[in-house]
Amino acid sequence: MSVRVVARLRPLLENELEKDTIVEAVAASADSGADPTIVRIPNPKNEAEAYSFVFNSVYDQQTTQQQIFDHEIAPTVKHLFKGFDVTIFAYGVTGTGKTHTMKGGKALADRGVIPRLLSAVYRRSRKVEKDTEGNTQVEVTMSYYEIYCDKVFDLFDDKRSPAGLPIRDNGGKTVVVGLTEKPCATLKEFEQLYDQANLNRSTSATKLNASSSRSHAVLCVKVVQTTGDHVKISTASAIDLAGSEDNRRTENGKERMVESASINKSLFVLAQCVEAISKKQSRIPYRESKMTRILSLGQNDGFTVMILNLAPVRSYHLDTLSSLNFANRTK
Ligand code: ADP
Ligand code: MG
Repeated sequence: MSVRVVARLRPLLENELEKDTIVEAVAASADSGADPTIVRIPNPKNEAEAYSFVFNSVYDQQTTQQQIFDHEIAPTVKHLFKGFDVTIFAYGVTGTGKTHTMKGGKALADRGVIPRLLSAVYRRSRKVEKDTEGNTQVEVTMSYYEIYCDKVFDLFDDKRSPAGLPIRDNGGKTVVVGLTEKPCATLKEFEQLYDQANLNRSTSATKLNASSSRSHAVLCVKVVQTTGDHVKISTASAIDLAGSEDNRRTENGKERMVESASINKSLFVLAQCVEAISKKQSRIPYRESKMTRILSLGQNDGFTVMILNLAPVRSYHLDTLSSLNFANRTK
């Protein structure tokens, strides 16, 4: 089991000013050319003082989508085809670049982790089939769901029930009962399915009274490699997490409280699981929230990458600090 926790600073948005940049990516050694591993941020109570947080890697404002993919995700694809599960999380406050990192934009260079991952999976599938002269067949299927207030909603289902889908233990594995699993043989097919499903996500505001920043979106890509009667199954899951902002500070009302409580709890359990994995503890509390339970987080020799998205500007100061403290707990 292995985990990497990395931070990514997004560039300034149009209405943000250079002089309000307070967060820095810093290299541990003074060597020019050393890659940053430290996030430095001022103490909000005394800006002459700075806090440093250490990560496996820190990506600055200039980092491209291609670089994130090449450094953090491409290496996991090899493991996926060896039969290990891969789990990729984007964590952060709303507006810090989670969706940009995971889904990205339409232009080729802007495409995020998810379309690039699929593209790499298809490339590798064809390579495996070719290298084995057709003796191994690779099938790719995907499911895509949203977890909102601890309920699971199928994003491939346009007519979802407000109660959500039940989950059940099935031979030691937790499954979502009735979740659609779509065969998806090409990148083009994937894109159509993914775009269509994302429409269900954005319209959820009317269907469910939720906005996408308050739910976790979980895309699971299952790779089935069949060689004669030997079958190897592994799953890559990519999760655009609910915004980690402290909802208590800005909003109230019963509905918001229920949302916040369930977001806070699932993010808290997630942090505990990532911590337990990174410390190689034998007990991983994955059963304590629905998301980590469905993902069976840390239950096999998988690979987990947590991308901590950060906005480098002053208006996010306290939220950024609490994100950094959250991630710090996972090490
Ligand atoms: P989140 O999903 O965390 O709420 P978004 O991904 O929607 O945040 O990002 C917020 C805004 O910042 C969007 O306009 C997005 O296009 C922009 N953005 C985020 N990260 C980057 C980046 N690395 N490069 C360019 N624009 C970015
Ligand atoms: Mg988003």
